[in-house]
Amino acid sequence: MSVDKAKEDHAVGIKREYIIHGMDCGSCALTIENHLKSQPAVKQVSVNFSSGKMTIEHDGSVEEIIKEVSKAGYTASLVSRKQPVEAKKDKSGTNRVVLSGVLLLFGFIGSYTGVSEALMNVLYAAAILIGGYKPARSAYYAVKSRSLDMNVLMTAAVLGAAAIGEWLEGATVVWLFALGNVLQERSIEKTRNSIRSLIDLTPPEAWVKSGQHLLRKPVEQISVGHVIVVKPGDRIPLDGEVISGESSINQAPITGESIPVDKQPGDLVYAGTINEHGSLEIKVTKLVEDITISKIIHLVEEAQEQKAPTEVFADKFARIYTPIIFILALGVMLFPPLLFEASWNDWLYRGLELLVVACPCALVISTPVAIVSAIGNAARNGILIKGGAFLEVAGRMTAIAFDKTGTLTEGKVSVSQVIPAGITTETELLSIAFTLEEYSAHPIAKAVADFAKDRGLRARRGENFRNMVGKGVSASIDGQEYFAGNLKLFQELNSPIGDMESQIGVLRQEGHTIVIVGTREELLGVIAVADRIRNSSVKAMNDLRSVGINQVVMLTGDHEGSARKVAALTGVNRYFADLLPENKVNAIKQMQAENQVVAMVGDGINDAPALATANLGIAMGGAGSDTAMESADIVLMADNLEKLPHTIKLSRKALQIINQNIWFSLIIKAAALILIFPDLLTLWIAVISDTGAALIVILNSMRLLKLKSDETTS
Ligand code: ADP
Ligand code: MG
Repeated sequence: MSVDKAKEDHAVGIKREYIIHGMDCGSCALTIENHLKSQPAVKQVSVNFSSGKMTIEHDGSVEEIIKEVSKAGYTASLVSRKQPVEAKKDKSGTNRVVLSGVLLLFGFIGSYTGVSEALMNVLYAAAILIGGYKPARSAYYAVKSRSLDMNVLMTAAVLGAAAIGEWLEGATVVWLFALGNVLQERSIEKTRNSIRSLIDLTPPEAWVKSGQHLLRKPVEQISVGHVIVVKPGDRIPLDGEVISGESSINQAPITGESIPVDKQPGDLVYAGTINEHGSLEIKVTKLVEDITISKIIHLVEEAQEQKAPTEVFADKFARIYTPIIFILALGVMLFPPLLFEASWNDWLYRGLELLVVACPCALVISTPVAIVSAIGNAARNGILIKGGAFLEVAGRMTAIAFDKTGTLTEGKVSVSQVIPAGITTETELLSIAFTLEEYSAHPIAKAVADFAKDRGLRARRGENFRNMVGKGVSASIDGQEYFAGNLKLFQELNSPIGDMESQIGVLRQEGHTIVIVGTREELLGVIAVADRIRNSSVKAMNDLRSVGINQVVMLTGDHEGSARKVAALTGVNRYFADLLPENKVNAIKQMQAENQVVAMVGDGINDAPALATANLGIAMGGAGSDTAMESADIVLMADNLEKLPHTIKLSRKALQIINQNIWFSLIIKAAALILIFPDLLTLWIAVISDTGAALIVILNSMRLLKLKSDETTS
């Protein structure tokens, strides 16, 4: 260990992340958290069951923390990029289950071959010790931190069974419990790793161009601005901009799109995606720690830690249910024998059964594993869902509203006609429009500016730039105030439209969007722009209808004519035109008043209020825009709507599975409770009903990992 490293390990109050292995129930997380909180070196700690991660701020060394965690019966390892988190497989759990099972089996066989009972009990006791050592240790720490988790309940049940001489039962309980835990943990790890493994897709080294030479360098040593070369068939090592070469790139790891995307100089490429053919020179735009794919992983892990409303409910239920049953169990053990002189053994046994039934494991696990699986599936399809709560809303959504420009259409607006008025020349009209639009981020503005630039025009010197959202822009040139915008703007200005009115009417009927340029007194001309509808929008609208979303609505600030045309071409069934941003908000509210759960899909440039009003805000093109990725509730990484239907199908499936899980675990518990008193339950059946149910719930949830994006709905 270098001096630096040693120093870092003992630094004061550093925040670190660890992966915790061995947690198979929400309460385990709580036990670890409470135990570490009691350590003086620990400043702050939070352990998350869903992601299997612990964030902790502590003094002292990493080893000490790992040791404390292992005391409570779990294993911790520090998260670091250089050593992939694929932790050393801890085989000890499995070994203990096997060994304990073998002893149990010998004991059981022994009982048929007339071996002395004492010897059998020794075998059972050994099986209990080996299989139950770990849960007992965890139970000790749970009791110390005042939580009543399943380890405590199971350990108490086993000790009780031993006390009343039911050694075989005790050993069976231990073995089934340990086996269940190992199986549960394996499955949960699988869901947790489905996201973590994404980062393995990025190559650790890249070819860096230096003069005429290519040097192979670790990505950590490459900084922004370096030029790297990616050969055909290789994965892109860092995010960057293509500066020479052409190729098509399979972006599935980021966007989930199956069809490769053509890339030319000027286009952005992302680490982890695959260069299909053609060598590319790429100027690096992000350091390895900032690349899009690691941002996705980070956001997804954060999302998986957010508790969904259903989960909060299940946790609350468990917090009440467990103590009640626990107290009931004590009552059952003590009162009948004390008050009615009933048999101690019978009632102690029933009480022990109740202890086992008090474990709320399946219920507690019913939601988080489903959510982690669904969010994981989504991420692998290029859909970022920012938390279980949003997944639930997406599953309940009934109406969806789209922004037109840049969402349903490509947003790659281009100028189709330039019509100067009166004595104005085309050059004059364009250079004024250019000057005004240069500072606007609107797709229309970009189109006008690009068109003028392509004609070699230069912008004039403007001042007092103003942006009138949903209407247009203005600026002063040589003391004169100019405007560029829609008809609404010029009507408000009361400026004369004159003989251009009929021309404007015709252009609008044809579906063009028009930019009128002029002052308050005089019209300089009209620029007609047109946008192309995305092919993918048409398909997405069809798919949305086929998954049963009947309210597919378009909201646009553009005029009626253009709105009608886009509506007809894409197949949305309702549209609102001529909307200012605040009207978009009202349109959403109107739909909500009609009892719809409304999602809004927009670009975020001027739709932010509407996105915030909707029950669910969805952004697209997340790969190219950090703000889109951070602000929306759900982000489609690809710059199209292709994955929207899958998002809805997946969310609904998740809700359905969560529901199944909750009902299943409640019914199993109720059945077990009912069976205790007619004496139909045995301890080992009680354990199966708990551990087995938890396992079934987990496996049911894991179906969400496998839901295919092109699968037809059932
Ligand atoms: P959309 O809902 O189609 O995204 P916006 O709210 O972005 O519409 O804009 C509404 C209308 O306002 C546009 O159709 C256009 O007529 C006008 N407009 C907005 N910004 C500009 C601009 N920078 N230049 C010219 N016209 C603009
Ligand atoms: Mg817009």
